[in-house]
Amino acid sequence: MIDEIIKIVNEVTESLFIQIEEKLEQKIKELGENYSIELPDTAYGLPLIYILEAEKLTNLLELKAFLRKIKEENVEELSKFETASIKYLYLEEINLSLEILRVRNNSDKLFYGFLGDTIQRTLGVQLVDGRIPAVCLLLGCIERDKLLAIVKELKEKRILSFLVGPIAEDFIRSGEAIGFDAYVVPVGINPEEAVYVIDWAVRASLIFGGQTPGDKKAIIDYVRKRINAFCLVFGEIGKKEVAIASGAFLFAIPILTDQKLPEIKQEAIASYPLLVSESDYTRIVKKAIELRGLKIIVEKPPIPVSYGPAFEGERVRKEDTFIEFGGQRTISFEWVRMEEADRVEDGKIEVIGKDWRVRYEQGGQMPLGIIVNVAGKKMQKDFEPVIERQIHTFINEAEGLWHIGQRDINWIRISKKAKDAGISLEHIGIILATMIKAKFRLIVDKVEVLLYVDENEVRDLREQAREAYKLRDQRLEKLSDEEVDEFYSCLLCQSFAPRHVCVITPQRPGLCGAFTWLDAKASYEIEPTGGNQPVSKGEVIDTVCGRWSGVDEYVKKHSGGGIESINLYSLMENPMTSCGCFECIVAVVPEANGVMIVNRGYSGMTPIGMKFSTLAGMIGGGVQCPGFMGVGINYITSPKFIKAEGGIVRIVWMPKELKERLKNALNKRAQEEGISELYEKIADETICEDVEGLIEFLTRVDHPALQMEPIIK
Ligand code: SF4
Ligand code: ZN
Repeated sequence: MIDEIIKIVNEVTESLFIQIEEKLEQKIKELGENYSIELPDTAYGLPLIYILEAEKLTNLLELKAFLRKIKEENVEELSKFETASIKYLYLEEINLSLEILRVRNNSDKLFYGFLGDTIQRTLGVQLVDGRIPAVCLLLGCIERDKLLAIVKELKEKRILSFLVGPIAEDFIRSGEAIGFDAYVVPVGINPEEAVYVIDWAVRASLIFGGQTPGDKKAIIDYVRKRINAFCLVFGEIGKKEVAIASGAFLFAIPILTDQKLPEIKQEAIASYPLLVSESDYTRIVKKAIELRGLKIIVEKPPIPVSYGPAFEGERVRKEDTFIEFGGQRTISFEWVRMEEADRVEDGKIEVIGKDWRVRYEQGGQMPLGIIVNVAGKKMQKDFEPVIERQIHTFINEAEGLWHIGQRDINWIRISKKAKDAGISLEHIGIILATMIKAKFRLIVDKVEVLLYVDENEVRDLREQAREAYKLRDQRLEKLSDEEVDEFYSCLLCQSFAPRHVCVITPQRPGLCGAFTWLDAKASYEIEPTGGNQPVSKGEVIDTVCGRWSGVDEYVKKHSGGGIESINLYSLMENPMTSCGCFECIVAVVPEANGVMIVNRGYSGMTPIGMKFSTLAGMIGGGVQCPGFMGVGINYITSPKFIKAEGGIVRIVWMPKELKERLKNALNKRAQEEGISELYEKIADETICEDVEGLIEFLTRVDHPALQMEPIIK
């Protein structure tokens, strides 16, 4: 069987060669040899070729040379089968890139086509914390109702689906939600576009894994072990599909098909079979999960609509809304409070208000005060905000329910569809009680949810809640790195970036933005052997740079010995490492004697001549890169932000969007530092995108960084 596959793959490859050579000659004639073949949103050239061969092809001429080379050369170190697959993948990547050149300006928006780096970084945390336990490539042709049922099952299991072929188009036509938020991504209509998905998965080895481009064996091994992916192929299997399958097999991605085919096993690649037949569509997903040995626990509250992260991103628009609460329209708040155990009746859900049912049935708007009382032997007052912050996710994960904001600026909508499905007010309580119990099971023994809907009562209780928020903020503001004995680590990203350790302190949250010190502390209580562990500070070595003996020891041990020492507050000397999912990058701008900060969503140029994606490609994988560092947004306005280099006064450039988002916090910090005019002196893209323009601006406004001691010593 394998020999037959090799034969088919080689045939496909040969005819691709001919096609590409023709296409290429024509392109060169049309556009010239130096025409750039840059793909959108990636730092890795043509990624598969760059990652596996360490060759960055940037123009048509280089492409031609590479083509000649692989035609003649054999790929060393690999078996006959692996060689055939890898050659096919290279050629298909080239072929697709030439196609992108053709359709670059008029691509069909609904198909995602080439998948960029940014979205992979954005999904980083979900991929490591189990919110996306696996990805599935669906390829081929199948009846629509069967397709919808399979995709629904995958969604409920939180598996991210990529659709390729006629099913992709059919799914779009069905009108169901699409996109990464909805966990369903239609990639393209041609079968070879499946290579975009393989291409994307392999990029994890560099984005998170810190592998060295060209280290073929190690990279293939990384992908085989760490990328939980499988593939479902429906309908007839032609030669092209066989070639695609060989590419998947190379990375130990198994294929389940509805066609009758003999099982394929290759012990050298994977311990499980690579090709399995399953004609029962209600079993195919379960079989794939078993095959890959995935343990997927689905916590779902007893409510009459679907539930899970795949529904989190869905919006409820005004015209689809049945009823809404808060959002400046009515009084509202949400408040989690710790109570004595004997004052909490576990599982109690109560809606309190006159004729509330009748009022709810009328729809429109209603006041709503949500009080969640929790009790538990291991519960601490400090965990109240940690639990409270999850209300947002818990409510949003219900299909047809929508939540934004927090505390007394929250806003909730219930869609008409959800109402028709039977959602009532109590269900908000049921969702919260069930999910808080599930997610915080080791610290919360009892939960009750009280929902108040009478305006006066909500107003009075809101005052009490506001008092509590205030006390909480005061306490959190006082919480400094000096005051605590322990920091926490986060090792979650090690499943992709095995050498990366996040050290989380009260004044330095995790670089992905998902973990504050309190979150990490709570998560340690919930799962003492999980990804967050206490790190005892040990002796202070340097308070300005933020160096402690205990932190050094911990990081050395958990980075596999690769990192000797880290300075928690320094960018230039032994900075913290980065995995791949940082919200922002801080980078030194030597000419300006300062630093610039760029956030993940910003796709424009920066004054150091690199876009976010290029910069991001330089710093991942758990290595220290003095002068460059991934950080969480909230760290920027911490008093400990690059304290070793002088702090926020060093900031000379930020994208406007980030700057505005941080305006209040930046102004507050600047005032504390006695440089209250700093905000106006920070440049953004509307002022300059290059270093000359930056220096000119900084000189004109007399930016304080220009007068500081040199940032590079
Ligand atoms: Fe990954 Fe650090 Fe975020 Fe943990 S805190 S999920 S290690 S980036
Ligand atoms: Zn990460």
